[in-house]
Amino acid sequence: MNILSTLNLYKTYGTGETKVEALKQVSISVSKGEFVSVIGPSGSGKSTLLNMVGALDQPTSGMVTIDGREVHKMKEEELSVFRRRNIGFIFQSFNLIPELNVEENIVLPILLDYQKPDQHYIKELLGLLGLTERKHHLPSQLSGGQQQRVAIGRALATKPAIILADEPTGNLDSKNSQDVMNLLKLSVAQYHQTVIMITHNHSYASFADRVFQVNDGMVRELGASRR
Ligand code: ADP
Ligand code: ADP
Repeated sequence: MNILSTLNLYKTYGTGETKVEALKQVSISVSKGEFVSVIGPSGSGKSTLLNMVGALDQPTSGMVTIDGREVHKMKEEELSVFRRRNIGFIFQSFNLIPELNVEENIVLPILLDYQKPDQHYIKELLGLLGLTERKHHLPSQLSGGQQQRVAIGRALATKPAIILADEPTGNLDSKNSQDVMNLLKLSVAQYHQTVIMITHNHSYASFADRVFQVNDGMVRELGASRR
């Protein structure tokens, strides 16, 4: 089953002299439970692609379908609820709430959705992220890598069907990077989540079932399945 697809997607920024065709003719589909990585040079359109499939920004033309919903047709209020329920975003800016401690930051998306946190899962997450000893700390009391892991925990807390990650290991050393990759693998294996991850690290790209290469706004799939 396709959980996510795009059809003939185009995204253009600016007009005239400043016009940039960031995505051209992109048609991809991702099945539930797949781990897909996205590679490509800086400025090739990777972040734009993630913004489109995360329904954070409107395409110039074309379709984006998530879990059977044509999200390019949805209104913003409806979209923000849809995103919160279905998609976990791991971006390079952590956007943690400075007044909330580690655990509070992680459970926030659950509370915002008027749900009760699954305490067992939150405890497991804190452990897998190596944050158990830090759960009462504020973001300002953490290293960059720890803050990044809190942001990852927050994205996973609601067990979203789809996890979109932009360089999730960007600020981490190799031990922590490995742990985060294993955590994402576990999310796929244990909770049948779908992961789409931008990475510059080719050895992490090969963690994925499929690799999409973005070049000058065009997306193609590399090689065969590595599962
Ligand atoms: P990377 O190369 O690591 O993927 P970038 O520095 O290209 O990251 O982009 C980071 C973010 O800044 C992206 O979310 C992108 O949408 C935004 N961005 C990139 N280029 C521009 C631009 N020319 N104007 C405004 N925002 C941009
Ligand atoms: P990548 O993530 O592969 O580095 P991006 O998707 O960030 O690439 O950017 C693709 C192209 O679109 C780049 O030329 C970038 O400058 C441009 N771009 C990205 N975001 C914006 C934006 N918000 N406004 C204008 N141009 C942008």
